[in-house]
Amino acid sequence: MSLQLDARQRAMLAEMGVRVWTPEPAPAPARAEDAPRRAPPAAAFVPAPVPARDAAGENPESIANNDYSTLGSGKKESKTAATTRPAVVFPAASIASVPGPTAALQARPPGIAAMDWPALQHAVAQCQACGLCQGRTQTVFGVGDVSADWMVVGEAPGEQEDLQGEPFVGPSGQLLDNMLKAIGLSRRAGADAPAAPGSPGAPASLHGVYIANVVKCRPPGNRNPHPDEVALCDAYLARQVALVRPKIILAMGRFAVQSLLQTNEPIGRLRGRVHHYQGVPVIVTYHPAYLLRSLTEKSKAWADLCLALEVMQQAGSKR
Ligand code: SF4
Repeated sequence: MSLQLDARQRAMLAEMGVRVWTPEPAPAPARAEDAPRRAPPAAAFVPAPVPARDAAGENPESIANNDYSTLGSGKKESKTAATTRPAVVFPAASIASVPGPTAALQARPPGIAAMDWPALQHAVAQCQACGLCQGRTQTVFGVGDVSADWMVVGEAPGEQEDLQGEPFVGPSGQLLDNMLKAIGLSRRAGADAPAAPGSPGAPASLHGVYIANVVKCRPPGNRNPHPDEVALCDAYLARQVALVRPKIILAMGRFAVQSLLQTNEPIGRLRGRVHHYQGVPVIVTYHPAYLLRSLTEKSKAWADLCLALEVMQQAGSKR
């Protein structure tokens, strides 16, 4: 795909710290699958070191161990359910009752797979199925256009997300917003998307995106979510995907990827290919919080966005 960038997109990429390279003729790789997508010339690219676990024992591809906080285009004429969707704003689980530290855990409510948006949001807000409910300020359900073609799936709420009730806020959220804007998307665009506080709304040129995390409650101390916590919570994400019915999913970060794709393979080995979840193409990429710590990986994240755009174009998107 030949991606044409206008001055604004180039400015956005500059904000991300991503250089836009003009492809030069390069020798063909030995095998097509070995060729990196839109990789910069070797002289211009400094490979990042192999991710290592930090002092806290956490994988740096994951964001749940830091203070950054976590994260819908046009209407889909083929989505018959879209006409019946309520205009839902999901920044905060205002009806959540926060249990005390000794509250007993309860089973998830039945029928999640058949819930509509209000019922699903209520179920998440009331959920006490795992121990993460005991330390949350509020659940972090999701934000954006519930009819979006694009969906971003992150990992678990951080401190600011827990406080604000919205995924991907803080520095990593700003980077994500810049990345999305570079490809014409905004969490504040779309008929169902909430406007930013004090803002007239997103420019009409931007399309919507829906953003959610795999885990809806903040792990204490921003630790990584445990596998049983991810397993208990992912039914809510599955229903969100079924309700949004996106045309493409960007899976950001190790736990998002592992939950959606049911694999333990590292992100580096899953990138550059099209996976599927509920029949929806999934593109794997790094979490923005990781990119903030590993600046040399931004070019890879940009290549992942380009792959996602290519998949969307091949799918005949209106965009
Ligand atoms: S993390 Fe998910 S499963 Fe655990 S209490 Fe929160 S909403 Fe329920």
